[in-house]
Amino acid sequence: MNWITKIIKAGEKIKTAIRERSTKADIANSDWTSCCRGPILKKDLEANLWVCPDCNKHHYISPTNRFNLMFGKDGWKKIESPHPPPDPYKWVDTKKYIDRLKDAKKITGQDNAILSCEAKINNIDVVVSAVDFKFIGGSISMAEGENVLAAVQTALNKKCPYIFVSASGGMRMMTNILSLMQMTRMTVGINALREQNLPYIVVATSPTTGGLTASIASLSDICIGETGATWAFAGRRIVENTEKSQLPENFQTVEWAKDKGGQIDLICDRKDIHPTIGTLLSILLKKNSDISTEENETSENSQSLTREAS
Ligand SMILES: [Zn+2]
Repeated sequence: MNWITKIIKAGEKIKTAIRERSTKADIANSDWTSCCRGPILKKDLEANLWVCPDCNKHHYISPTNRFNLMFGKDGWKKIESPHPPPDPYKWVDTKKYIDRLKDAKKITGQDNAILSCEAKINNIDVVVSAVDFKFIGGSISMAEGENVLAAVQTALNKKCPYIFVSASGGMRMMTNILSLMQMTRMTVGINALREQNLPYIVVATSPTTGGLTASIASLSDICIGETGATWAFAGRRIVENTEKSQLPENFQTVEWAKDKGGQIDLICDRKDIHPTIGTLLSILLKKNSDISTEENETSENSQSLTREAS
């Protein structure tokens, strides 16, 4: 074999490798994924709550999986919410928005990017919402706003705490100003909880960014950061270009926000989130006794508790 034949054969091998590269769908349907040490079986990762046993990277989990991990498969009940008209602007970019919605529903099995449920932690009634980042980047539009408000209303009716598990790229540009309005609507909902002295806890998972950080994710009494999660408003490159400076490696992580900004109160590994919320709620509700014993009344103690928690 001369050198020309060798080069041609090497070229063919490269072409084959490129042709056979896995697509997103292939990876999603495979039993394998990858982390720091190369391929890892999804079932091994799942057995460790989707956290890498070697580098402690917290891999993405859907709201359904998170609720199953936190409460058990039969330990939570979905909260239904209204279905507003999905595409008032008939938006088209590289693809019709209505088709993007159909694809997102098919991929995630959800009606919209948020799943809300009623459950119990430490035998305390709670309402929990979690964002599915795989539903158009966890972006917030009218249906998501309605879902949050339905969850908040349930918490108000039950006089119980509300927990929001955030993960989002921000507001959904395809529904324009109607998406931005959801920041205000969600804020009004959280304020209604506050008026009733009901605890509101955020669990910031990766990535919590954009309009979600600028609204509901930043309004909690206590904000728990899931280990290694991104916590930001504008993207890293935008900040770097604006500031014209080199940013630290851990910039825009929950750890950085806890140390530098104080926006995050504590950092938890995934396995510790459920027991930590249980402990916090037990402390808060023991002092805030009017939540479970009196209706539509506030006490000096509960008012000062809310002020302290805020
Ligand atoms: Zn790893």
